[in-house]
Parts: sequence; structure tokens; C-alpha cells
Amino acid sequence: MPVLRVGVDDTDSVKGMCTTYVGAVLERKLLSMGCRKAELSRLIRLNPNCPFKTRGNAAVSLHLEVPEEMVEQVVKTVVKTVEELYEKGYENTQPGVVFYEGVDVPEEWKRFAFRAVREIVSLDDALTLAEKHGARVFMFNGGRGVIGALAAIALPLTNPTYEAIAYRVRDNWGTVRRIDVNSVLELVRTGLSFDTYDPASREIRITPHTPCPVLAGVRSASAENAVKALGIVKFHEEIELTTVYATNQATDMHYVESKISQLRPFTNAVIAGTVASNPSTTQGGHVFFKLNDGRDTVTCAVYAPTGGLRKVASALMPGDELTVMGAVKQKPQGLTVNVEKIEVKRLVEHFVLRPPLCPGCGRRTESAGREQGYRCRRCGVKLPSEAVEKTSVPRKISPGIYEAAISARRHLTKPVGLTYLGVVNSQ
Ligand SMILES: [Zn+2]
Repeated sequence: MPVLRVGVDDTDSVKGMCTTYVGAVLERKLLSMGCRKAELSRLIRLNPNCPFKTRGNAAVSLHLEVPEEMVEQVVKTVVKTVEELYEKGYENTQPGVVFYEGVDVPEEWKRFAFRAVREIVSLDDALTLAEKHGARVFMFNGGRGVIGALAAIALPLTNPTYEAIAYRVRDNWGTVRRIDVNSVLELVRTGLSFDTYDPASREIRITPHTPCPVLAGVRSASAENAVKALGIVKFHEEIELTTVYATNQATDMHYVESKISQLRPFTNAVIAGTVASNPSTTQGGHVFFKLNDGRDTVTCAVYAPTGGLRKVASALMPGDELTVMGAVKQKPQGLTVNVEKIEVKRLVEHFVLRPPLCPGCGRRTESAGREQGYRCRRCGVKLPSEAVEKTSVPRKISPGIYEAAISARRHLTKPVGLTYLGVVNSQ
């Protein structure tokens, strides 16, 4: 049976709704009509460094086995549901819905999907692609969501993570979420999920702070564990429905290895290089340093919300070898990398230089002038410049990978401790 792939994006506003909820409602409706899941529905996070994004920049896709005679009915149901649920009255809420029937998604379309996660793509490009491959497109209020809807359908997920989500009944939207904190701590102890709780700030990470329909979302390395983990959490309010998505969250998929000369605004880069300036800290607590990749130099900014990452940045010294990961922004001083992770690969030795002791009287000599060596004032002994006393001072940081505070982390960014998810996607 051919698979009908349904992509939906941009149904939410800063004030409410959530595209994952629209996906869950669609899933429930279509399964009750007799459709079957060909594969798990997907929650795809798009480029977090995109100036048009709403909140988390999430698009969803459903992949269904649909009897041929039911396809038109499914299309009608989906379009009607999206039309009913999307947030009206917001210029920047521009829903897009895409349908595609076929066993495989064309390679060109998959490449488009990677671009939507990593850079800025135009609505024109999206519509051209949809037309070329015979996808059906529905647009509301401008329809920029077609970009994300296309991406959600096609993005290859070679190493996905999973999120099980519970949604609230409509009467509770906008009210305080009633969740049993002890059950969340119990979940943390099971190790079934990740990004559940921030021990540093004691913040529960599975509940959003927006008035959206999400009650809680639990992330895990497998769909089974995500569902099991959500089952451990106790709520003191009614749940409307639950579902589980395969996602590209916590995969680092948005980062692309780049030379400094290749950097473009609104992309997310991984740059290997050498520290080329002493770090400076502004009054607001932001740390800036220069990085050189052997040919070019770029400004790296480690902003206050990244928390402890600033301590690492401010302890860097010229010559240290690093890999930085972050969002590329156009700033008055030129392209700047807003650093989200730093891998310290090699640290230079830190020496303090002093004039040597006099071999005759044991007192400290003095500089005899620039590149003139040293002289003892008492005995008149002269020593060459090479006699300088070098004392090694321990560095304040060690090689390793350092990340921004949990509260500043992007959905797409892989937490440093998350080794069990395997290697990072490279492309
Ligand atoms: Zn002396």
C-alpha cells in the first residue's frame, strides 16, 4: 500500500497552540477513520537561528497507510482540522500543509529538508520543489509553513530521539500545570529519559511555560522508553491525549562544519581553530574572543545566558586549540558566532616570565633593556635573554567539551552527557 505522508507546520503563535498538538489530534482522527501508521509520526525542529521562527520552530509529519479510496477524505479531514486549530490573528502564524503519496521521498527533497534545519530557505524554493515532485500543498495566511511541512515529511532520521507528549484538555489551557514533582524526580532516577530535570536550577524540564496545549513532553533514546517514562509522571489534571514522536531533537543536526570564510548569517556552524586574542568580558558579563582557523579570524561571543560556558571562555589564552559550535549572526563588528558549545582540544602552557637569579649573589637580576639580557646591579654579572626564568602556571580549564547552561540550550542541540545516543550526524 502506498504511504500517504502529511506534513504540517506553523500553526502556533507566541500566545498559544502547538503544531505537535495539531499532529496528535490528526493522528487520533485518521487512525479512527481506519488509516494505519506506516511509521512513527515525526516532530522536526527547524533551524533555531531563523528570524521567522515562532517558538520552538517545530513541524510535524504523519506517515500513514491509507486505502486509495480514502485518500481524498483524509486530505479533507487534515485541511479542515488545521484550519480549525491554527492560531488566528497573527501575521507570523502562516500554516502550511503538504501531502505526498509514494513509497520513497526523492533525494532532492531530503536535501531540501536538511537545508531547512541548517539555513534559511525561501517559500519560493519550497513551492517549486513541491510542484516538481507532485506534492499537494495547502496554505493559510501566507503559508510559509509549507517549508517546514515539506521538511518534516522528508528529513532523514538516521539517529533519532523520541518524545512522548501528554496534552491538556482545552479548559485547562493557559492555567498552571499540575504535575507531581516527586514523580518527576522518580523518573530522573530511572534513567529512562533525558533533559527531564535541571539539578542546578531545580527546574522541571518536561513542562513548557507557554499557554500551549502541551502538559508535558518526555524525551528518550527509544520510543518505548519515552512512553514508559511519561507513564511514570503523575499529573493532577486531566489528559486529553498522548502520543509519541520520532524527533531530530538533541542530535546536533543543525550544526555544519565550516571554515570561517564559508560562514553565513542564520546558519549554525562548527569551527575548528586557535584562540587569537585574550578574552574580554563586558559589563553585562558577555565574553568575547577571536578564533583563527589558519586563514581567517572571527569573533566568538559567549553571552551571559550561557552560564558556566563564560567561565571556560574567559579562561582561554591565545594559542589554545578549540572547536566551537554556535549560531552565526551578522553584528556591527561583522559575522559573529554566538557560542553554544566549546570543545577544548589543546591548551597552551601558561608561563610567567621573570628575570633570573644572579649566580653570584643569589639576588634577582634586572632587565638590561629590551633584548639586552639581564644584569646584577650588585656584582655586575650579565646574563643573556635566554636565561629568563619561566614558571609554569596551572591553567584554569582542562581539555573537554563544555556546553551552555541547560536553560539556554536549543532543542536541536545534543547535551554533552548524552553519549548513549551515538555519533553526531555529519554531512
Ligand atoms: Zn649578583
